[in-house]
Amino acid sequence: MQGPQARALNVNQAWWDGLKKGGRRPSQRRLRGDGMALYAMTCGWLSCDLNEMLAGGEGRITFPIPAYLIDHPKGLVLFDTGLHPHSIDDPHTLVGPLADAFDVRSRPGDDIVSRLERLDVDPGRVRYIVNSHLHFDHTGGNGFVPNARVVVQETEWEAGRIPELVHANFYNPINYDHGHIVKPVDGEFDLFGDGTVVTIPTFGHTPGHQSLKLKLPGGEIVLAADACYFCQTLENMHLPSLVYDRARMVNSLLLLRKLRRNGARIFFGHDPDFWRSVPQAPVKVF
Ligand SMILES: [Zn+2]
Repeated sequence: MQGPQARALNVNQAWWDGLKKGGRRPSQRRLRGDGMALYAMTCGWLSCDLNEMLAGGEGRITFPIPAYLIDHPKGLVLFDTGLHPHSIDDPHTLVGPLADAFDVRSRPGDDIVSRLERLDVDPGRVRYIVNSHLHFDHTGGNGFVPNARVVVQETEWEAGRIPELVHANFYNPINYDHGHIVKPVDGEFDLFGDGTVVTIPTFGHTPGHQSLKLKLPGGEIVLAADACYFCQTLENMHLPSLVYDRARMVNSLLLLRKLRRNGARIFFGHDPDFWRSVPQAPVKVF
């Protein structure tokens, strides 16, 4: 990549390297216990025509917006940050170009700051935000987590800075353009170097979508995010009507099936039935 975007990425890389060598870091105080723990949080609700999520589907669907907190011995990690808390009052500004297709159904308290508060976690203590991708329902809380480094696939980050791709992918930079230090990664990235928190590229929904593989005491989990909205997306290879790259999305679903065959539990991106089975913070998932 050439030009100002390339320079911006390089500057971010330099900051990242400097911080890894001992710059200021958020506190690494643990929540509780010794091992790694996963907490699930509902950071908003949306409704839309089912056809948007499952091509050919009829009627409307209301679905949750998940975000996760991973308590690792080397620091706190968020996987996605949900809807912007003010999207209830001002969807056209904060949801942006998709505001006509998606209705915000959140209630007060369905936001990342309120959810972390219930865990007694100051957002300033979070070390990393791993964003699955840049859509408004996955980055809306980024601006409230000020000291975190944002870990995102380089392809996705580039797409979020190129006007044509911002338009084509319905991104709304107001949700992710907050000057965080960004760590653009290319494919799999082992966040702590111990194999417990690893990004896996699951492109297709957007140019650089990623999922997150976790090795927890209770087993292996893959937080699929929008690589796989629902259980039936995976069972039936039933794609949404709106996909950036269908062939890549199918490949990503095949990868998720393979991980599941090998013993991983898949956490679906927006499945209301599945979500009802997931313990909510402050209770641990594992
Ligand atoms: Zn989503």
